[in-house]
Amino acid sequence: MLHIFLDKKTTISLGEVSVITSARLIPAAAYRERERERDQKREKMRSSVVSVAKRSRNALMKSNNIITNGFGGVGGEAGVVVCGVADPSSVSSLRRHGENCACGCRSSSKGTRAFSSSAANGTGNRGVMFMGANDVQVKDIPFPKLELDSTNSPVVSERQKRKCEHGVILKVVTTNICGSDQHMVRGRTSLPGGHMILGHEITGEVVELGKDVEFIKKGDVCSVPFNIACGRCDNCRQGHTGICLNVNPARPGAAYGYVDMGGWIGGQAEYVMVPYADFNLLKFPDKEQAKEKITSLTLLSDIFPTGYHGAVTAGVKPGSTVYVAGAGPVGLACAASAQLLGAACVIVGDAIPERLNQAKSFGCEVVDITKGSVDEQIEKILGTPEVDAAVDCVGFEARGCGHNHAKEVPAQVLNDCMTVTKAGGAVGIPGLYVTEDPGAVEDAAKTGNLSMRLGLGWAKSLTFATGQCPTMKYNRNLMNAILYDRVQIDKAVNVEVISLDDAPRGYADFDKGASKKYVIDPHNYTGRV
Ligand code: NAD
Ligand code: ZN
Ligand code: ZN
Repeated sequence: MLHIFLDKKTTISLGEVSVITSARLIPAAAYRERERERDQKREKMRSSVVSVAKRSRNALMKSNNIITNGFGGVGGEAGVVVCGVADPSSVSSLRRHGENCACGCRSSSKGTRAFSSSAANGTGNRGVMFMGANDVQVKDIPFPKLELDSTNSPVVSERQKRKCEHGVILKVVTTNICGSDQHMVRGRTSLPGGHMILGHEITGEVVELGKDVEFIKKGDVCSVPFNIACGRCDNCRQGHTGICLNVNPARPGAAYGYVDMGGWIGGQAEYVMVPYADFNLLKFPDKEQAKEKITSLTLLSDIFPTGYHGAVTAGVKPGSTVYVAGAGPVGLACAASAQLLGAACVIVGDAIPERLNQAKSFGCEVVDITKGSVDEQIEKILGTPEVDAAVDCVGFEARGCGHNHAKEVPAQVLNDCMTVTKAGGAVGIPGLYVTEDPGAVEDAAKTGNLSMRLGLGWAKSLTFATGQCPTMKYNRNLMNAILYDRVQIDKAVNVEVISLDDAPRGYADFDKGASKKYVIDPHNYTGRV
């Protein structure tokens, strides 16, 4: 029997561990005194950051007459979409901005439209904006507010307006570039340029609290799950935070800075607003220790839990043999997770030699998909063409195998995973599949219809797990695995820290296949940029 589960219920096999309260043992009185002095210093710093930022936000709003949600905005009069389209109620026309679009979404990439001139002194906020295919730029943008107003979005389905007194404003500590961002940046989604601040992988320090926030405090350094979840709906209550019912008017599930995900502003910026903060944020127990391990902790917002989820939903357990398709950051995080779960042999497939070498660097076997079929190469390694569990860490932009490797074959990995997984096994599918792909090579794939050999999966009684990773299900335990040195996830995915201004270079190099996970550090928190 074939089971297809969206976000299948899973269990975490990491052991229970106690919360760390301090990295060192010191006498209690001295500790309290030290903490009191630190608190005073932090409070002083925070209030100056917040008041400077608030002043600049007000100045910005006045001078630009921006009444938007705090992202660069579509420009022009508040509440009016000025993109030269005849019928503003038509989703399709709104989604495709014209060549000479008056909103400046195209022309701004040539530098002719200022997003926020008064913030040019750098006192407001800056963020990475998607300007069009293969074009991201760092723009001055308004300081975030404790509200969401995406009613100016050119993507109709993203429009919503709500107060967010349950939210906080974070000074971004680190924010990572993801393969999911690349789908948009390559022009493979319906996102028009010029309005979206990117970034859903966010770690930050709380600098401002909404009045309904009870448990998170100013100064807390926290990981932000990339899924935005209300914590109140039926799905959130069951732990399915990737498909929250209350955060996106168009469909279940939302994320920061992502097309069709509710219009929430992305975190590849200096500051960002995080809603439902008490529910969403994972606070690091010790700030100094967090600083030491930030290059690993930053991966808790997405790829570490996502890779782990892929392995868990594929049924990986001690002694399993595992095939992980894709040696990008998610595939490498999945391979490291499979090892953490006790897999006997982890085989990683890709076409990029540098990425395959990265997988080898922490003990994985590899399959070079340019050299022939995956099952034949697995047979050479294991003596059998099948594995216990397979994970798709590639998604809809998959390449073919063997002589087809230069071509895009959207269902390649799904079919490979069905071929190599033993009967009765499971396939984890964190790799992204979309409902609209304007750049698809096949007509059917433009609406997400793929040539999948489902009959094979059915005949083998395979189980499939798809969808966004419900990050919160895993992030606390994986945080402790990092803090207790059970895993070196930053080394496995080869983290490189870059400045906010270097983000366009990070996007370009990642797109070329660099075997790196680019982590943007907008305030030089790590001292590395
Ligand atoms: P990436 O683009 O860096 O990596 C994908 C890798 O797959 C590339 O190295 C590519 O060469 C390789 N590849 C292409 N065709 C292949 C094939 N036929 N067999 C094996 N490898 C092949 O992206 P990433 O950051 O590692 O993310 C991987 C996927 O996971 C993306 O689709 C991303 O959108 C998705 N994702 C999903 C979630 C979730 O919650 N489900 C979260 C994060 C990322
Ligand atoms: Zn991501
Ligand atoms: Zn919810």
